[in-house]
Amino acid sequence: MLDFTVESEFQAKLDWMADFVRTEVEPLDLLFPHGGDPYDTTNTKARRILRPLQEQVRAQGLWACHLGPDLGGQGYGQIKLAYMNEILGRSYWAPTVFGTAAPDTGNAEILAMFGTAEQKKRYLQPLLDGEIVSAFSMTEPQAGADPTEFVCRAWRDGDEWVIDGEKWFTSNARHAAFFIVMAVTDPEAAPHRRMSMFVVPAGTPGVEIQRNVSTMGERDDLDEGIHGYLRYREVRVPGDAILGGPGEGFAVAQARLGGGRVHHAMRTVGLCSRAFDMMCERALSRRTKGALLAEKQAVQAFIADSWIQLQQFRLLVLHTAWVIDTQPHGAARTLIAACKVAMAQVMHDIVQRAVHLHGSLGTTLELPLAQWWMSVPSLALADGPTEVHKVSIAKQVLRGYQPVDTLFPSEHLPPKRAAAAERYADALSAHE
Ligand SMILES: Cc1cc2nc3c(=O)[nH]c(=O)nc-3n(C[C@H](O)[C@H](O)[C@H](O)COP(=O)(O)OP(=O)(O)OC[C@H]3O[C@@H](n4cnc5c(N)ncnc54)[C@H](O)[C@@H]3O)c2cc1C
Repeated sequence: MLDFTVESEFQAKLDWMADFVRTEVEPLDLLFPHGGDPYDTTNTKARRILRPLQEQVRAQGLWACHLGPDLGGQGYGQIKLAYMNEILGRSYWAPTVFGTAAPDTGNAEILAMFGTAEQKKRYLQPLLDGEIVSAFSMTEPQAGADPTEFVCRAWRDGDEWVIDGEKWFTSNARHAAFFIVMAVTDPEAAPHRRMSMFVVPAGTPGVEIQRNVSTMGERDDLDEGIHGYLRYREVRVPGDAILGGPGEGFAVAQARLGGGRVHHAMRTVGLCSRAFDMMCERALSRRTKGALLAEKQAVQAFIADSWIQLQQFRLLVLHTAWVIDTQPHGAARTLIAACKVAMAQVMHDIVQRAVHLHGSLGTTLELPLAQWWMSVPSLALADGPTEVHKVSIAKQVLRGYQPVDTLFPSEHLPPKRAAAAERYADALSAHE
């Protein structure tokens, strides 16, 4: 039986979170609005505000709640995380305040699962404590959606690994204390056994940020870009810098991406709810042709369509969370891909309608809508493009079906009608 309920003590925590995020955290979005700001550990003004807020979160027992108790989290499970992330999704800074910002969350999971004791001490603990940030270096300039096209190489040389190649869109590279890097260790192996994952400290000789790429809404002339175009130039790391074993890079990456995707979807529910609230407020406040926008049927359709999409998406996310909580590892794979696809579409549709209902004001930087709108294309790309996830959904769904060996489909009505007549022949032929 599907069950998305939480106990009243936890609801009290959610209520605290909602109030805290609105009053204490959302102001950070206004004071430090650039993409890289939450990750910039050198920004002393922002850190001065951030630290006490993080302390309050810890005092409430809400720090890094995606982690199990062994890593200092609460082990709440995904249903509770879904409700928490809905609240965090309203604010860009909130995940950092609550110790759940990507890509650090996924990188922490990798280190927890595959790191040595020394790596856990050096990287994992400061990451969990919010003292450092990290980056995930997988995409290459010539290949993203299809990792089998990656060419960045790593080879063994004595006690060390040597990494050589380029990486593209390593988010927060400029602020990262270490990188988790995917590189080809055996080009002759089967496609999904060619790569391995490494932990590389920032500042290692040969790690070069060629440039920090800006995305929509960021300015190159102000050097606001945060997506590193990196060159690893014969970078040497110790033999135990490999995470998992040689050839296990894909498996390690998969261990990391599933949780990240579903948590992103949960946060997107929160962000879309905020855009939806703005849409409704506008409809009830703005007059045209002697009536409120809310009285126009076209506007009512906007609101109804958005409400339905948001409800459907939220239930999909909660269902996914419930399957992760209650069924064996891997059971939620199709659902997670569905969340990934749906979140980009739902956000696209709802934010677009919200912008449109706000008219010219909606297109300005005087509302948060423009910022959200600019993030829509990224949502459909980061962690893999929509098309790739759709292919994966279709393949998995089709495994549950069989072809027919008859000329017509199994639902073809003429033979079914004949079979129905035969089944109830006695009743049909009986006299009244
Ligand atoms: C905001 C943001 C942050 C990111 N952060 C990171 C990061 O920290 N670390 C990292 O390693 N990467 C990161 N990425 C990169 C991201 O993982 C890639 O953008 C993604 O995997 C797609 O790769 P690509 O950009 O090379 O696009 P391509 O692989 O060139 O794909 C472009 C388009 O081709 C089409 N396409 C591709 N494959 C198929 C297919 N199989 N079937 C049909 N159509 C297809 C789709 O329309 C797709 O959108 C980030 C991306 C964004 C936008």
